[in-house]
Amino acid sequence: MSFIAQRLGYFDSSDFRDAIKKQSELADPIDLSIGLPEELTPEHIKAAGIRAILQDKTTYTPANGLLELRQGLAEKLQNENNIPATPENITVVPGLTTGQLLVYLAILDPGDEVIVFDPYYPPYPHLASMVGAYVIYASTLPTFQPDLEAIKAAITNKTKLIVVNTPNNPSGAVYSEETLRAIAQIAEEHNLLVISDEIYEHFVYDGKHFSMGSIYPNTITMNGFSKEHAMTGWRVGYVTGPQEIIDAINELQQYVVMSSTSISQHAAVAALSHKPQQLVEKYHEKRDLVVNRLNKLGYNVKGAQGAFYAFVKAPHDLTDVEFVERATHHGLVIVPGRAFSQLHGYVRISYGADKKTLERGLDIMEKISQELG
Ligand code: PLP
Repeated sequence: MSFIAQRLGYFDSSDFRDAIKKQSELADPIDLSIGLPEELTPEHIKAAGIRAILQDKTTYTPANGLLELRQGLAEKLQNENNIPATPENITVVPGLTTGQLLVYLAILDPGDEVIVFDPYYPPYPHLASMVGAYVIYASTLPTFQPDLEAIKAAITNKTKLIVVNTPNNPSGAVYSEETLRAIAQIAEEHNLLVISDEIYEHFVYDGKHFSMGSIYPNTITMNGFSKEHAMTGWRVGYVTGPQEIIDAINELQQYVVMSSTSISQHAAVAALSHKPQQLVEKYHEKRDLVVNRLNKLGYNVKGAQGAFYAFVKAPHDLTDVEFVERATHHGLVIVPGRAFSQLHGYVRISYGADKKTLERGLDIMEKISQELG
């Protein structure tokens, strides 16, 4: 008999755990598995965090976050994203992933249905199931672009929410304004909420980022500092959207976290003053390197217009796990696609790593292609 609650049964992180375990067993792993930018947190952000500690800014903040940070975020959201955000309808959360759970707790009742595009960032379906909602998958294959007919077909009278993520993890797809307007129209016709996860908004190499919250008021926009400011361990994200939803999240935050870390919030204020333009150029180059070499090997990469991932089909009808085992055998750590998809024939390659590591990883992909013939 287990003491563990049944809701944990919906939660399966074994594919990631296996990848990390395998990496720890390798002498010199080439790690293209997790979504970690190669950069270290910039000096001006670290200095702001250290200053906060030295100035004893180490107590709880308001549950919705420091006013100074929310003011800076409101300005950013208005100017860059055209979203009508104010310091009142923004709430700071301890990372977007926690924010995702808080949003779900605020809006989903057991039995509600959530439309998630496949492939997906793993917490979207798993956390939805944990709060008792049903996940309906709308496949984006083979192009990784949303299929409007599949979305319409997935809608029932229990549907409450569509989850959108552009630029996308794991496919790297960037959705056009036209596509997002079409999704907004479907959502409006059926009175649905939309979550728009925009954590990779500045990692766009082809096309242009467009924020759904600029055209559809029932959008809950989520973003954070982890990727673009290399702050994965600081745990700061934010959510903006309809006031009643933000108020509900604030009430939850009061009980669940009290407040996000004060030190990280002060560091985030400093992060807002710098735009990571050079970072994006560097990632653009890495994207070109990865996609060009994979295409030469016959992978025919789709998506990869943004973020820092390529989601490719394993050759010769190998399953994702079979392919990953082969890669691990050569010292390359990548994640089986089943962690991100109901399908089991894809693998995800992250190009957050530095160029040298990437080149070594691509050499191994080439070696595997030669082996398979
Ligand atoms: N959303 C997406 C699409 C991601 O890929 C990730 C991390 O990989 C996150 C959110 C995590 O954000 P945070 O570090 O703020 O929890």
